[in-house]
Amino acid sequence: MNSPIDATWRAFHQRSLDDPDGFWAEQARLVDWERDFDQICDASRPPFARWFVGGRINLCHNAVDRHAARRPDDAALIWVSTEVGQERVYSFAALKDEVEAMAAMLREGGVGVGDRVLIYMPMIPEAAFAMLACARIGAVHSVVFGGFASQALADRIDDAEPVMIVSADAGSRGGKVVPYKPLLDEAIRIASHQPSRVLMVDRGLSAFQPVQGRDLDYAALRARLLGTRVDCEWLPSDAISYTLYTSGTTGKPKGVQRDVGGYAVALAASMKHIYEGRAGETFFSTSDIGWVVGHSYIVYGPLIAGMATLMHEGTPVLPDAGIWWRLVERFKVTVMFSAPTAARVLKKHDIEHLKRHDLSSLRTLFLAGEPLDEPTARWIADALGKPIIDNYWQTETGWPILTLARGVAPAEAKFGSPGVPMYGYRIELLDERTGEVLTEPNQKGLLTIAGPLPPGCMQTVWRDDERFVRTYWSGVPGRQVYSTFDWALRDEDGYYFILGRSDDVINVAGHRLGSREIEECIAGHPAVAEVAVVGVADALKGQVATAFAVLKDPAGAATPEAALRLEGEILRRVDQLLGAVARPSRVRFVTLLPKTRSGKLLRRAIQAVCEHRDPGDLITLDDPSALQQIRDLVG
Ligand code: AMP
Repeated sequence: MNSPIDATWRAFHQRSLDDPDGFWAEQARLVDWERDFDQICDASRPPFARWFVGGRINLCHNAVDRHAARRPDDAALIWVSTEVGQERVYSFAALKDEVEAMAAMLREGGVGVGDRVLIYMPMIPEAAFAMLACARIGAVHSVVFGGFASQALADRIDDAEPVMIVSADAGSRGGKVVPYKPLLDEAIRIASHQPSRVLMVDRGLSAFQPVQGRDLDYAALRARLLGTRVDCEWLPSDAISYTLYTSGTTGKPKGVQRDVGGYAVALAASMKHIYEGRAGETFFSTSDIGWVVGHSYIVYGPLIAGMATLMHEGTPVLPDAGIWWRLVERFKVTVMFSAPTAARVLKKHDIEHLKRHDLSSLRTLFLAGEPLDEPTARWIADALGKPIIDNYWQTETGWPILTLARGVAPAEAKFGSPGVPMYGYRIELLDERTGEVLTEPNQKGLLTIAGPLPPGCMQTVWRDDERFVRTYWSGVPGRQVYSTFDWALRDEDGYYFILGRSDDVINVAGHRLGSREIEECIAGHPAVAEVAVVGVADALKGQVATAFAVLKDPAGAATPEAALRLEGEILRRVDQLLGAVARPSRVRFVTLLPKTRSGKLLRRAIQAVCEHRDPGDLITLDDPSALQQIRDLVG
């Protein structure tokens, strides 16, 4: 058969499925173990899987100490802020010192093994120190994206119940100071759980009043504790490394929980086989530590591989659209990771911003987090003259499900496809209603993974095994398989194409938002009776959220001025409670929402109408005038 998929890759992939023990035992040698494991995978209690059972390991040792011992002066963390005009470079030795100082602060604050530490920080080195310090002492970090506001933060505080919170006075975005401390104080005020300590990094961007007896000053503690030795706490492989909240169908975000050993091995293997990052080189991911890409490929992955990680506080277009490429040139970046939206933003600027720099060090640009459209892929490939590799994965998996592993064998990219299933993933396309496996090419089905999930993937939902099983493993009749909640098809060559979510997740510029969370926030406005939030296709951001609200008193939006005023109020409410990242592009007022006769909101039909598509079979629609109102509004 004439296939664009290389035979070496086929054999590699097949072995990962036929002989997972042998395959993963080999990958496990990419990291250091204090005690070797006795069993590769315990899958005796499906769908739960425990990887490298009996092994003892530490993520911080693998990311920092082992490199500090061998190559202490090599760069480990390069921080550039084009927001505040500062730069710092930490060698592995210096990074170890900073992490140990932070670990000592956490210990003094009463943080022990298994305790949670919530990190609510902008893109500054101290955020990475905090994560690594948690890993060092066996604490569980829970990073909350800095774009989230007080209610979103309070919900996460109540779920994680942190002993300590690490935060900063402010971030900066597009040259504008974004204070964090007032949002954090408000979140703690409305949360039921109260952290005993808040460790504050004061960047001098936004004055704040420390809370007596609770807030600690990072600079003062650092002055005292730098030089303190804090040994790595060796943890069982299946101990919890972190939780990271992600949106789904309900209003309550899920704490995706990950282990230590499986994650370390999965990241080390991905750095070798997928990203081809080598010790001594520089990796540049433009994501944020608040997202899974930031965890896996700003902090842990590159460092585990012995690479320097470049952390950038800033946007791709300030001071101009050449900034990222100047950084690539200056720091000799070899591997870069970004999102399609960033490429679409750059596309609006002069291509010379990319072309005029010496990008000879750069081997590959990886893009992930949302669908990569063909015009954008072609534009950036032409502009850079480098291979563009799409990655498809999720917060839940921690590393790519579909891509091309060019570290294993040469592979041809196909525009519009993230690639082929990665090693360790047993991918099946299923008919959602019958559970039947779709074997023919080009059939649309639900993208699922047969258990056990490979190392690095989520262990469970934090403190809610039942929700883990119900949410991810119970959607298909007669089968217990993990649902990605994405539709996909596979072509004749075995390449997959992602066709959109099967649930109510909205993907704005690669940021994952839940319809329900935004709806609950808007429904809290006193004038609103009920509301539907849907994701609508957008040329720049992939999708934007749009809200349709029914008012308790329709007179509230009777005139265009009144409607505009109310829309502004509702949008401000979302900004204040959830954060600007969740703000819908519009709030439209209707007198009725499209629902089924049994009262289920037809979000998919609303979305279709907004995108001028056929809403499909509307046999269950209760009142057709509801959809007509939306059609009239969107034109
Ligand atoms: P997150 O958990 O925030 O990483 O979001 C994961 C979701 O983003 C996936 O379930 C997909 O719906 C979407 N997604 C991520 N990467 C890609 C990609 N390369 N192509 C298409 N969709 C993607």
